[in-house]
Amino acid sequence: ETGRQSHTFKAEVQQVLYILAHSLYTDREIFLRELISNASDAINRVQFEMLTNREVRDPDLEPQITIEVNKEARTLSISDTGIGMTADEMVEHLGTIAQSAARAFVKQAGEGAKQTASEIIGQFGVGFYSVFMVADKVTVVSQSYRPDAPAAMWESSGGDSFTVGPATRERRGTTITLHLKEDATEFADPWRIEQIVRRHSNYVAFPIMLDGRQINARTAIWRKAPRDVTNDEYNGYYRQLTLDSQPPLSFIHISTDAPVDLHAILYIPSRRERGILERRIEGQIKLYSRKVLILEEAKDLLPAYFRFVEGVVDSEDLPLNVSRESVQSGTAGGSPVMQRLRKTLTGRLHKELNELAERDPEKYRTFWKEFGPFIKEGIATDYEHRNDLLKLLRVQTTKSGEEWITLATYKERMIPGQKEIYYLMAASRDAALSSPHLDPLRARDIEVILFTDLMDGFMLSGLREYDGLRLRNIDEGDLDLPGEVERPAPAINDEQFTALAERIAAILGDRLKEVRTSRVLRDSPARLVADEAAFGREMQRIQQVLGQ
Ligand code: ADP
Ligand code: MG
Repeated sequence: ETGRQSHTFKAEVQQVLYILAHSLYTDREIFLRELISNASDAINRVQFEMLTNREVRDPDLEPQITIEVNKEARTLSISDTGIGMTADEMVEHLGTIAQSAARAFVKQAGEGAKQTASEIIGQFGVGFYSVFMVADKVTVVSQSYRPDAPAAMWESSGGDSFTVGPATRERRGTTITLHLKEDATEFADPWRIEQIVRRHSNYVAFPIMLDGRQINARTAIWRKAPRDVTNDEYNGYYRQLTLDSQPPLSFIHISTDAPVDLHAILYIPSRRERGILERRIEGQIKLYSRKVLILEEAKDLLPAYFRFVEGVVDSEDLPLNVSRESVQSGTAGGSPVMQRLRKTLTGRLHKELNELAERDPEKYRTFWKEFGPFIKEGIATDYEHRNDLLKLLRVQTTKSGEEWITLATYKERMIPGQKEIYYLMAASRDAALSSPHLDPLRARDIEVILFTDLMDGFMLSGLREYDGLRLRNIDEGDLDLPGEVERPAPAINDEQFTALAERIAAILGDRLKEVRTSRVLRDSPARLVADEAAFGREMQRIQQVLGQ
């Protein structure tokens, strides 16, 4: 045919295609989720473009995704009224794949399917190529939003090559046609398609049409009144938003139009995926205004320590001129509306977490186990919310056993005359509990907080007191402890002590400042105390642990 050019897939793509076509047989239905997600992205992108660009083809085209199936011909096609692609864009977007992603994908898929296809594909963004799990030939016809770009066609039977050439298509958008494999005929069945859409794409923001009717949910659930949304819907939306197979631990749903128009659902996941110091999880909050997705990952809507929260925020009140540039450069974050949204959302999250602790201590424990380090980071860095964050803090102590208690509980249990909060830092709970520093406090029945987490040091570097009480590290030399105890009789005399001290000093040399008689030890022969002048021990410990 005239004007068609043959291209070779990048080597990484060939490898990925081979695996998709030959070794992933479960969960194949998720190819449709990937196609719908691309169609929805394409519509979002053209809407976003239209905010600032008047030169867009077919500006009045309704946003819509249409699926057609034909059992006899064994085909499935999906069309959208999105941004479209030029021939060059087809070569670029449907011929390559980020190399690191491809390598990771091949590795993961090779390691035996501990994960399902759905998880692997979601994780590595091989989205479009997943069609080759079910199709032996795929045709893409597209008309770009650029008024002067001709329509184009992309075609491939998998393997190592594809062709790109001219095409005819009246209106803006993309149609992808799959010629289904013999063992994939089920995907030409309208009933099956409807089932898959409900399961994986029900909450996509644009109408998905099949046989002339809409098959996904009609209203965005965050725009509904909370009393009209079932738990299943909240969980279903969460699953489609995050691809997390576990339901969320908790969520808040705000739907109000005064004092500011705000419709939001924020989820607290039931687990964090990565260690806080390994890779930062970025906030996955989608920001909509006037039905247009403005930001895929809005960062300014919550304080940084809440970056594990996922969800959607929709407000009609964002300034009309909220243009690409101001959003992307982050200046939108400074707008008064954004600030008000942020304040409301942050306040509601704090309230929800406190209520969760009251209503379901078991769940709160899970929260604390998974996300405690984020709260500690907040305590260290966010002075504005410190009091709220301190309410969420949980600690273990010499008296708490396996329980986690609040600082308020610690305060209630202080002994008469106690004016400080005592704590000990150690590498583990066992190490903490066998510390000689505890001797004098045990003797007085004073509770001591045991800080054994890496983030504790960081938190303490910014936290000096709670509710008027100073936090005091019990490794300090001259603790002025409340309460009277009988002092044990010295086991050695002054002369013997001087000899011992000299010997210790001779062995430790420069590493030691001085040796003193202890007036506090009872069950332990000696302890190391910190030099009052030594500053930032908490930070030193972090550095030690990090091996710096
Ligand atoms: P991702 O969606 O993560 O970018 P995909 O493999 O799903 O990866 O898609 C690759 C790229 O192909 C997209 O980023 C987009 O540029 C382009 N694309 C795919 N489907 C469409 C479509 N329906 N309309 C416009 N562009 C599309
Ligand atoms: Mg995609």
